[in-house]
Amino acid sequence: MEEYTRVFARIDLDAAIHNMQAMRASLKDGARMIGVVKTDGYGHGAVPVAQAIDPYVAGYAVATIEEARNLQLHGIKKPILILGVTHPSHSRELVQYGIRPTIFTMEQAEALSEAVMELNRERGEAAAGSADLPVCAYIHLAVDTGMSRIGLPCDEEGASLAAAIARLPGISVEGIFTHFARADETDKASAMRQWEKYQRFIEMTEAEGLTVPIHHVANSAAIIELGETHWDMVRAGISIYGMYPSDEVAQTEVKLSPVMSLHSFVTYVKDIPVGTEVSYGGTFKAEHTTKVATVPVGYGDGYPRNLSGKGCVLIRGKRAPILGRVCMDQFMVDVTDIPGVCVDDPVTLIGRDGEERITVEELARTGGGFHYEIVCDIGKRVPRVYVRDGRIVGTKDYFTDVYEDFIAF
Ligand SMILES: *Cc1c(COP(=O)(O)O)cnc(C)c1O
Repeated sequence: MEEYTRVFARIDLDAAIHNMQAMRASLKDGARMIGVVKTDGYGHGAVPVAQAIDPYVAGYAVATIEEARNLQLHGIKKPILILGVTHPSHSRELVQYGIRPTIFTMEQAEALSEAVMELNRERGEAAAGSADLPVCAYIHLAVDTGMSRIGLPCDEEGASLAAAIARLPGISVEGIFTHFARADETDKASAMRQWEKYQRFIEMTEAEGLTVPIHHVANSAAIIELGETHWDMVRAGISIYGMYPSDEVAQTEVKLSPVMSLHSFVTYVKDIPVGTEVSYGGTFKAEHTTKVATVPVGYGDGYPRNLSGKGCVLIRGKRAPILGRVCMDQFMVDVTDIPGVCVDDPVTLIGRDGEERITVEELARTGGGFHYEIVCDIGKRVPRVYVRDGRIVGTKDYFTDVYEDFIAF
């Protein structure tokens, strides 16, 4: 991207589509996919990712109501589920916009039921005799089978609470789900215990007279390795973005390709003599004359500071090790062994250059970080460039956003 001379993240929507196709091919009969696009699509951009994967999903999942609204305001029409807790004060908004909340207490459900009734009263008054159907609230019930995070208790009491919630006026239970804590481990014993508990819970709720159309349990790890848990729907997250949930998950069953790469340009090249320290704290001191290139990216962009003195970038197809600490906006690399490096040379922080490749997983391993977190943390200062059919189809630059309310200042 000529427009961006400091840094940009390239988002390969073709890779995202490839990942959806690879997953779809491994789904158990009839199972459909929910595209998890929380945290702005794991840092990739929820809207363009959702648009690209739309033909492959039955709906989307996000973490907050703001994320759900943002998708809708950008034309996403399929159902959106909020995986986290939504405060009861948003009940009306949920119903009005048809956003599916996760529900697991009577208080949450009652607030929603009341919002439905209130809206129907208002609609009745506004258009008495019209053929409008009364609105209802579609919800998904969460069951806690082992995360101890949110969800109905996985016992008889939880099952009768589920049934009681379903009987509230204006409430339609569309889905019932649970979440694995350890599906990404080689040893699936814990995940299988959760799976057994979930199935028993479903039997209990059915005995209470509750039947739910959509059962969903599997995250990316279970999509790849626990086919028996696919049931009606699966929730694909990290795999959309071309990363495996952990290095214990098989990388041969479903072939994923990374969607994000991160690119910058050299701003300065110089030789430093023996004994010269580099960056804050002088943690690197040259033992011989060293050619140093400066890269204008730092932890202020979400590039992990824990890569200080450990990580690498790619310049001219070769690895250039990071010298000393990563600063907020810049860091230095050793290019002594890379001939001809000059200002404006492309720098690959994540991605491929020739034969060499740096993955997000490598950054996580090297720095002692977590791959999910690294992509989520790539910051607003980094513009995103979207590629589809090998062509640039759009960009997102947070600095072109206008702060309408503050413009008067
Ligand atoms: C984030 C999340 C997912 C997606 O998990 P991945 O490991 O990224 O596939 C699925 N379900 C729930 C409840 C989540 O919070």
